Amino acid sequence: MRTRRLVTLVAALLAIVLAPAAAQAAPATWSPPSNLVTPLNQVWQHQEQTYNGGNLYGFRNYGWDQIMANGGYVNYCVRWDSTATVTAAQRDQIHATLARQHKKWMDELVGHNAWPYGDVPVKVVGWAVRNRSQLQWTDTSVDIYVNDIRENAPQCSVPCGRFFNQNGQYPNCPGGYARHYDQSLWLTDGFGGGAGGDWGQRVGREYYMANLNTVNVHILLHEIGHTWGLDDFYDWTPTGVSNFIMLAGSSTSITAFDGWMLRDWWRHLKSRYGY
Ligand SMILES: [Zn+2]
Repeated sequence: MRTRRLVTLVAALLAIVLAPAAAQAAPATWSPPSNLVTPLNQVWQHQEQTYNGGNLYGFRNYGWDQIMANGGYVNYCVRWDSTATVTAAQRDQIHATLARQHKKWMDELVGHNAWPYGDVPVKVVGWAVRNRSQLQWTDTSVDIYVNDIRENAPQCSVPCGRFFNQNGQYPNCPGGYARHYDQSLWLTDGFGGGAGGDWGQRVGREYYMANLNTVNVHILLHEIGHTWGLDDFYDWTPTGVSNFIMLAGSSTSITAFDGWMLRDWWRHLKSRYGY
């Protein structure tokens, strides 16, 4: 039937038009929708009350600080906390997946409130592993750290890690600043759920490898949110919002509310970077 078909066609065209629009630049100014104003205020008040004593504003290793120190990129180390082997192709897929998920958060900032970057590339500069033979490549595209164990897991070099050098200087990192890492992607065999913070993100190795091509790797997205300062909502929920990535288990994607919570962080911190 013609009419029906036309409706379907219009819907399909709308989907094509709307899909890219969703990934385009964020609003230029601080202008949250009216229904999000109250919950956003509640979240920031809760942040200040929970992390008062100067820690909220005094802490200097948020994702914000890392990207600003670098001038617009983030360096990662992969902590391969696993007995599995990794091919070069898998290595590159792991990087690509991380970059796609990271970009989903960064896209919420593009063009917004003097945020200076259109793109924040993810570089993987190192891999940490228990046994070199697990990594089935011979090229030198990443630094490899073997059997440097901390927290019962392989880690990249301490002198190269931002977590250990929060002044942003890496005088004892063999590869210098270019090979320092800001965050770790920590992939652990048999690990359920996730963890995230200024040090990076930790998820199950099986979960990550099973979701290399998933559009929204939702546990990773949630944990990256923590790296940017966003909080958990285990014991309360802001008024009028019930589904967002930082409310664990309620959304598999970054929502408008998540985006505005991220922008609220920028609004409160940007003066420290001269914006
Ligand atoms: Zn969490």
